[in-house]
Amino acid sequence: MLTLILLILTIVGLLAIMRREAGAVPALVMLGGLGLVGLLLGSPVLGVLLLIGAVAVAVAGLPTLRIRWITPRLFAMFKRVSPKVSDTERTALEAGTVAWDGDLFSGRPDWSRLLAYHDDGLSDEERAFLDHQCSVAAGMCNAWEIAKERADLPEELWQYLKQEGFFGMIIPKEYGGLGFSAKAQSLVLQKLSISEMLMVTVGVPNSLGPGELLLKYGTQAQKDHYLPRLADGREIPCFGLTGPRAGSDATSLPDTGVVCKQMIDGEEVLGLRLNFEKRWITLAPIATVVGLAFRLFDPDHLLGEEEDRGITLALVPRNTQGMEIGRRHHPIGSPFLNGPIRGKDVFVPLDTIIGGTEMIGQGWRMLVECLSIGRCITLPSGASGTTRYALGWTGGFARIRRQFNVPVAEMEGVQEPLARMAALGYIAKAAVYQTANTIDRGEKPAVPSAILKSQLTEFQRLALSDAMDIHGGKAVTLGPRNYLGIGYSANPVSITVEGANIMTRNLMIFGQGAIRCHPFVLKELAASDSNDLEAFDRAFFGHAALVFGNAARAFTMGLGIGKPSVPFDEVAAPYARDMARLSAGFSLCADAAMASLGAALKQREMISARLGDVLSNLYLASMVLKEWHEGDRVEGEAALLHYSCTHLLQRAEQAFDELFDNLPNRALAGVLRAMVMPLGRRWKRPADRLTREIAQAVSRDTALRTKLLDGAWTANDGAQDNPLARYNALLTEYDRAEALYRTVNKAYAKGELPRQALHPEVRLEAALEKGLVSEEDAEFMRRFEAEVLELLSVDDFEYDAFAMDKSKVLRHDAA
Ligand SMILES: Cc1cc2nc3c(=O)[nH]c(=O)nc-3n(C[C@H](O)[C@H](O)[C@H](O)COP(=O)(O)OP(=O)(O)OC[C@H]3O[C@@H](n4cnc5c(N)ncnc54)[C@H](O)[C@@H]3O)c2cc1C
Repeated sequence: MLTLILLILTIVGLLAIMRREAGAVPALVMLGGLGLVGLLLGSPVLGVLLLIGAVAVAVAGLPTLRIRWITPRLFAMFKRVSPKVSDTERTALEAGTVAWDGDLFSGRPDWSRLLAYHDDGLSDEERAFLDHQCSVAAGMCNAWEIAKERADLPEELWQYLKQEGFFGMIIPKEYGGLGFSAKAQSLVLQKLSISEMLMVTVGVPNSLGPGELLLKYGTQAQKDHYLPRLADGREIPCFGLTGPRAGSDATSLPDTGVVCKQMIDGEEVLGLRLNFEKRWITLAPIATVVGLAFRLFDPDHLLGEEEDRGITLALVPRNTQGMEIGRRHHPIGSPFLNGPIRGKDVFVPLDTIIGGTEMIGQGWRMLVECLSIGRCITLPSGASGTTRYALGWTGGFARIRRQFNVPVAEMEGVQEPLARMAALGYIAKAAVYQTANTIDRGEKPAVPSAILKSQLTEFQRLALSDAMDIHGGKAVTLGPRNYLGIGYSANPVSITVEGANIMTRNLMIFGQGAIRCHPFVLKELAASDSNDLEAFDRAFFGHAALVFGNAARAFTMGLGIGKPSVPFDEVAAPYARDMARLSAGFSLCADAAMASLGAALKQREMISARLGDVLSNLYLASMVLKEWHEGDRVEGEAALLHYSCTHLLQRAEQAFDELFDNLPNRALAGVLRAMVMPLGRRWKRPADRLTREIAQAVSRDTALRTKLLDGAWTANDGAQDNPLARYNALLTEYDRAEALYRTVNKAYAKGELPRQALHPEVRLEAALEKGLVSEEDAEFMRRFEAEVLELLSVDDFEYDAFAMDKSKVLRHDAA
C-alpha cells in the first residue's frame, strides 16, 4: 500500500513540477524526501530507486555539476547530428520577427501577449479611401471585358488608379504616397479583389518590389528620384527574380552582373554588364523600371578582392540598351500584365544598385526581409476578399435559385459547402486583419506570412470550388454575366506565386518555424557555431526543461486536468484552453521529430508538412479568437465561431494523427500519441446543426451576412453592374416573395390553377386572376421574378466567337 501511495505521489509531484518547469531543486527535494520515506517506512526498493532518481536530477539539473560531466559530451554529439544551415537558409531564418508564432511554438501560449497587439482601427483618411476610391475603382471593373475583350484594365481605370495614388499605398506621404497602414492596404486589396486583375495590378507595386526595396534599402538619391514617381504612377515597377532555371529555388539564378567600365559620352563609367533571362514577371510588359536580381561578379577586382559577390538587386530603366521587354505571357483565367524580360550585355552604372555598392551581395536578405511583410498582405488579402465575394454571390444565388420548388439554399447538400465557405471567409478575414495589425505594431511576421500565404490561398481555392459547385451551369458558362468563372480559373496564380504552396507547406512553415520560432534551437545552433559550451549548456537544459514541461502539460490537459485560465468569454474560452494543450503537444512533437530525425527531417517533408499544419491551424484559430474578442459581434456569429474553431482544431488533430501514423520511430510515435491524445481525438467536424444555421444566415439578409461582406463593394453605384448588390437587394425582399411563391404553388398543387401554368410568371397571373394574390403583390412578384431570371441568365455568342483565328473555324453543315 505504501509503495502504491509513494508511486502515485511521485508521479503527481513530477507532473506538477514538470508542468510548471519549476526546475531541478523541487524535483530533487521531492524525490529525495519520498525516497527517504520509502527507505525508512518499509518500501526499500522504491526508496532506493527514488534516491537514484534524485541523484540523476542533481547531476543533470544542477549546472555546476552537469557542465563538468554531461554537457561536453552532449555538445560534441549535438555538433555531429545538428543540421547544417546554409547561408541562404540562415538569411531566411534571420529575416523578420517572432511574435505570437513563438508563443505557439513554446507550448506555453500567453494570450495576454496576443491581446496586447491593440488595434487602433483605420484613420479617417483610410476609411474614406476605402469607402469612396475603392468603390469607384471596383465599380469600373467588368471582369469579362477586362479578361476577354481587352486583356487589360480600361484606360480610365488606369488613370484613376494613378491619380488617386493606389500604386503608392506603402509609400510615405513625404514622398507623395498614401502612407497607409498594413490594415488599410489589406482592406483596399480585399475590396478590389472583385476583379483578380485589379487586385494584382494594385497589389504588386505595393508588395515585394522596387517601392518596398527602395523604402527600406534605397539610397537617399534613389528614394528622392523614384518614390514620388512610383507613388503617382509615372513609373510602373516590376520585379524580376524568376527565370527558366530558377523558380522555387530562386537563389540558384544564373543571371549575372559583371563589374566593368564603359565609355559613356566620352567618360569612363564604372558599372555592371548584365546578362539575364527572366520570365513570369508581373507588370513587365508595361513596366518603366525593372527591379532585377542577379549574381554579381567582380573578376577584374574593380571593387575589391572578392570575385563572387552574391545576389544583388538593381533598378534598370526599361529603355536601357539591350533590354528586351514588352512581350506577354497569358496567365490562366485572368490575363493580367505579365511577361518575360531578357537582357544581353545591358550596361548600367553602379548607382543603379539598390542601396548602392554597400548593398552588393545583400539581395537575398533584402528580398526575404521584405517578403515577411508583403506575403502577409497581398495574396492573403486577395484570398480573403475573393472568398467573401464568392460567398456573397453564392449565398444570394442559392436563395433565389429554386429547384424542386424550394431555394437550393434549403437543401442540406448545398448548405454544407455554403457554410464551409462562410467559415473560410470568416477565418481568412480575421487572420489577415489581425496579422496586418501586428505589422502595424512593428512586427515582421516571417512564419505567419508563409502560413497566411499558403493556407488562405488554399481556402480561396476551396471556396471558389464550392461556389462553382453551388452555381452549377450558371458559373460554368463564361460570358459577361458570369461573375465567378474568371476568378475561379485564375486561382492557380495565387497558389503558385510568392512561394508555391506545396513548397511553402512542406518546407517552409515548419522548417523555418522550427529554428526561428523555437525558444532554444537557434540559441543551440549559435552556441555550436561559436563553440560556446556555457551558452550551449543553458540553451540545451532550458530546452530539456521545456520538453518535460510540454510532455506534462499536454498529458495532464489531455486528461482534462489543470485547464489554464484564458482571457476569453465562455463562447471562445473552450477553444483557447484546448489550444494550450495542442500547443504543448505541438512543441513536444516538434522536438521529438527534430531529435529523432535530425538533419533527415529536411527531407521528410510530409512529416514537416504535418507539423506545419498543426502550427498553421493553431495560428489561424488564435486569430479568429482575437477577432471575436475585440470585434462587434452580430446575431448568429457564435455559430460561425464554433464552426470555424472546430474546423481548425479538428484539422490540427488530424495532422497530429497522421504524424503519429507516419513518424519513422514507431515507439516514439506511440509515446507521443499517448502523451498528446491520451483519451483520443477531441475535435470532430462541425455539427450539421451549425452548418444549417450558418447556411441559412448567409443566404438571407442577415447581420451575419452583412458582417461577412463588410468591406466588399456592395452598392450598385459604379459604372459597371454589381451582381452582389443585386443579390443583396433581392434578399431584402425574399421573405415576401417566398410567401407568395408558397401561396401560388400550393394553389397549383391543389389544382386551383390551370395545369399548363408551368412558368412562374404564368402561374402568378393565373393566381391574380383567381384572386389568390393582390394586384400589389403581383406587381411586386413580376419585378422580383424578372430580376431573378436576369440573374440566373447566361450568355450566348456567335458561332465563331471564341476562335482567335477565324480562318480555322470549321463550318459543320448545321452551322
Ligand atoms: C502569373 C505569375 C506571376 C508571377 N510573377 C512574378 C514576378 O512578378 N516576379 C518574379 O520574380 N516571379 C514571378 N512569378 C514566379 C513565381 O514566383 C514562381 O512561379 C514560383 O516561385 C514557383 O516557381 P515555379 O513556377 O518555377 O515552380 P517550380 O519551382 O518549378 O516548382 C514546381 C513544383 O515543385 C514544388 N517544389 C519546389 N521545390 C520544392 C521543395 N523543396 N519542396 C516541396 N516542393 C517543392 C513547388 O511547390 C511546385 O509545386 C510569377 C509566376 C506566375 C505564374
